[in-house]
Amino acid sequence: MAAAPFSWIRPEPHGIHVVPADCWVDPSRAVDRALVTHGHADHARGGHGQTVATPETLAIMKLRYATSDGATPVRYGETIRLPGEVDATYIPAGHVLGSAQILLEHAGERVVVTGDYKRRHDPTCPPFAVTPCDVFITEATFGLPVFCHPPIQEEMAKLLDRLAAHPERCVLVGAYALGKAQRVIAELRRAGHAAPIYLHGAMEKMCRLYEEHGVDLGELRLVADHSKDAMRGSIVVCPPSALNDRWSRRLPEPITAMASGWMRIRQRARQRNVELPLVISDHADWGELTRTIEEVGAEENWITHGREDALLRWCQLHQRRARALALVGYEDEDD
Ligand SMILES: [Zn+2]
Ligand SMILES: [Zn+2]
Repeated sequence: MAAAPFSWIRPEPHGIHVVPADCWVDPSRAVDRALVTHGHADHARGGHGQTVATPETLAIMKLRYATSDGATPVRYGETIRLPGEVDATYIPAGHVLGSAQILLEHAGERVVVTGDYKRRHDPTCPPFAVTPCDVFITEATFGLPVFCHPPIQEEMAKLLDRLAAHPERCVLVGAYALGKAQRVIAELRRAGHAAPIYLHGAMEKMCRLYEEHGVDLGELRLVADHSKDAMRGSIVVCPPSALNDRWSRRLPEPITAMASGWMRIRQRARQRNVELPLVISDHADWGELTRTIEEVGAEENWITHGREDALLRWCQLHQRRARALALVGYEDEDD
């Protein structure tokens, strides 16, 4: 008798288990063999025996964990044969530098694990590629109709207008250190902002890593190397955690901004004392999630990593088979 469809791929609380290969996708604890979609800490943990990921993701993990034991690079479009006759292909996810969806093939069945993704343009990574499959395992961080990210050009214009209106101050932008910060800087350059951008020290290494991988961020300066007066009329980028701490006292009357999909929720902006909320996310919004499920056209959709219920209901209303997975430990609070 043939095995039940898709029984070789098992969602467990701490990751997705690829049974014949005895490996895990984005496991939340150390395992012998991990397939990692991207470098964010809730997906890429250290300590695995072998880590299969794109070269960019491996570089990010090396920077974070100061070790690259068992690193096995797979380029976009490349397929790696795993034990148990499982093939894994890494496909752009459009989320951050190096981010990939993983196509798993076994016994004639195709399963795609998206990791985190978005469909909007991002100058720092190649775009999400729609990949036909039987099971589509999608994230749902912003899986509610209220989440509709505006065009990033509008948010850049808001930021630059506020800066121009207060040449004696600075605008301090809180942004996730991996991905969001570099995307915001690259988008500012695309919008014509050529002036030096000042960085909190914690952002420096990741920005340099992006530059080493061919992402042009223009002239970057460290806040620590410059006087308060030098930074008047400038944009300063820091991790969200530094927005309200003592560190910001060295800046010239900062106008506090934050770049996050959560800025859609006023209460979240107020909690962080954000004067200028910028709705910029590296995750798919509701429209992108539902469009992607339609375009992929999988036989089954497995929904995880966020607000599963509304997307599950949407699938049911649109006659698409779906289930919610109960994976633990995935949270992009600042994204
Ligand atoms: Zn992520
Ligand atoms: Zn995530």
